[in-house]
Amino acid sequence: MTAAPISADPLDLPTVDDVRAAATRIREAAHRTPVLTSRLVDAEVGAQVFVKAENLQRSGSFKFRGAFNTLSRLSDAHRATGVIAFSSGNHAQAVALAASILHVPATIVMPTDAPASKMAATRGYGAEIVTYDRYTEDREAIATRLSHERGLTLVPPYDHPDVIAGQGTAVLELLEETGPLDALFVCLGGGGLLSGSLLSAQALAPDCAVYGVEPRAGDDGLQSLRAGRIVRIDPPRTLADGAATPYLGTRTFPIIRDRVTDIVTVSDDELVDAMRMFATRMKIITEPTGCLAFAGMRAGVAADPDRFAGARIGVIISGGNVDLDRFAALIG
Ligand SMILES: *Cc1c(COP(=O)(O)O)cnc(C)c1O
Repeated sequence: MTAAPISADPLDLPTVDDVRAAATRIREAAHRTPVLTSRLVDAEVGAQVFVKAENLQRSGSFKFRGAFNTLSRLSDAHRATGVIAFSSGNHAQAVALAASILHVPATIVMPTDAPASKMAATRGYGAEIVTYDRYTEDREAIATRLSHERGLTLVPPYDHPDVIAGQGTAVLELLEETGPLDALFVCLGGGGLLSGSLLSAQALAPDCAVYGVEPRAGDDGLQSLRAGRIVRIDPPRTLADGAATPYLGTRTFPIIRDRVTDIVTVSDDELVDAMRMFATRMKIITEPTGCLAFAGMRAGVAADPDRFAGARIGVIISGGNVDLDRFAALIG
């Protein structure tokens, strides 16, 4: 008899079973977001487009799925002591909201100059905010130090099996509703949403081509896919602040490398065009990062119309957190 391996995978990569378990765990707390369609969009694209509207998810982005799943899995002792996260954006709000629902104390490390609306939302969910100067201090170091000093569990924004499994539930829901798709477009920052989506797609729609979409200025994912290793870039300048991550995770990268069909990039102008389209045709507010997948789908179809003619295509809107003044300035 051989000894059982300590762990089937030394990196502890999640599987679709973890995504299914996450779906059960988050069911009571998360919204099952709608799948939107538009005949005008279909006519323009020459395909059938199904839009999973995670801008309508609780806390305003899909990040609630991963945060709630991760916090649900903590031991009672870890829940009682609390969690910590560093983020100026959607991950902060997602962790703060999930923590308040589960009665877990939350500390969020944010830059002093984070948008007032984001700070207010995070504080409104009951989290304690610790600020730092983004030009002179390292937020990860601060979060790590506080986590050690106070015994807080650090909740990473993407590179964690429970986060990846939680994010995968959006595409699980989409495919349950639409049935098999020919192609799926998913935004790519650190890769939590894309890697989770790949797990779901492979199980429910194995023939579906899955594309990651990055901001052109921050194409570290594309570079990493081509190089076969994680490539780090300087922090990119792009409207897509939620996907401005300079490198993929050690867990998200192998899943993406092994399963993604390809990675495409889009410009900031294409994101703003998509925001305008969602506002006029579907009557919804999206943030620039939230439009990556739709813009990537449009670019992909324009580059190869024959390949996508008449296809059934899924697209995820990842978030809708944007100050109204900024939204108006961008689309005006
Ligand atoms: C976090 C985020 C992304 C990027 O997700 P990853 O899991 O890091 O790839 C994209 N869009 C929005 C709105 C986000 O909040």
